[in-house]
Amino acid sequence: MDVIVADNAGFCFGVKRAIKMANDTMDGAGMRVKSLGSLIHNPQVVNSFRERGLEVVEDLDSVDSEDTVIIRSHGVGPELRQDAAARGLKVVDTTCPFVTKAQQYAAKLIADGYKVVMIGDKDHPEVIGVVAHTQNRAIVINTVAEAEALKFIPRMGVVFQTTHSIGHVQEIVGALLKRGKEVRVFNTLCGATTSMQKTAIELSSEVEAMVIVGGRQSANTAQLAEVCRRVNPRVLQIESADEIREDWFQGLSRVGVSAGASTPDEVIADVVDRITRIEPSPAGA
Ligand code: SF4
Repeated sequence: MDVIVADNAGFCFGVKRAIKMANDTMDGAGMRVKSLGSLIHNPQVVNSFRERGLEVVEDLDSVDSEDTVIIRSHGVGPELRQDAAARGLKVVDTTCPFVTKAQQYAAKLIADGYKVVMIGDKDHPEVIGVVAHTQNRAIVINTVAEAEALKFIPRMGVVFQTTHSIGHVQEIVGALLKRGKEVRVFNTLCGATTSMQKTAIELSSEVEAMVIVGGRQSANTAQLAEVCRRVNPRVLQIESADEIREDWFQGLSRVGVSAGASTPDEVIADVVDRITRIEPSPAGA
């Protein structure tokens, strides 16, 4: 089987940075280190950190005063930072700079008197953190229908979940323009995700099928699969090579591979190796 890997597949700048900071902390802490939520949305990486002693906790009540706490790349709200400071905890903040920008724009919009609308998944930790920077006053929507259902907002400020696709937010912003008089939009999409999606979309149109590799909890992996599916309906989303079933590749001879921003190179290499070894077979054979 011919396998082509898209440019920009796998670890993005923000994830590499978070992993390096976590590694440095584990190497140098000499004490217990805890991560507020999974460091990144990739089970292999989370397991390897767990084996080295990094414990994942859900809140600061599970952290002892002598622990070091890692804030993951998705970021958190200001109250949580204040709470950690009040408890005297040592904090390592790996919030991705793209996410920090979205938090800052949302906070500025609220301070300037705008009603903030965030386009994103309301349950995603990044979105929860950005909304917390608006004193939890932002409205979160993720579809055109939700935008159309909003009451009229005279002064509206809009930010995006960093990993959404341009096409997705363009459609929703188009609908929002009809729901406001002054609509101020900050493009908070992350450049790494945009490049990754662009190259994967291009590859999708050149191959018979696409395989997208990444954690099931990873928002950018899900978005990547979705944008590829719009170009080529034959898309398989998997977490690792173990999920590859030869019958899915029946009748194929040329397959593209891309991967979410939290997918390690070795996981991508395993997938490519496994698919490459599948013998092409005629459709229906
Ligand atoms: S996908 Fe973008 S926003 Fe998310 S961690 Fe990577 S660089 Fe940062």
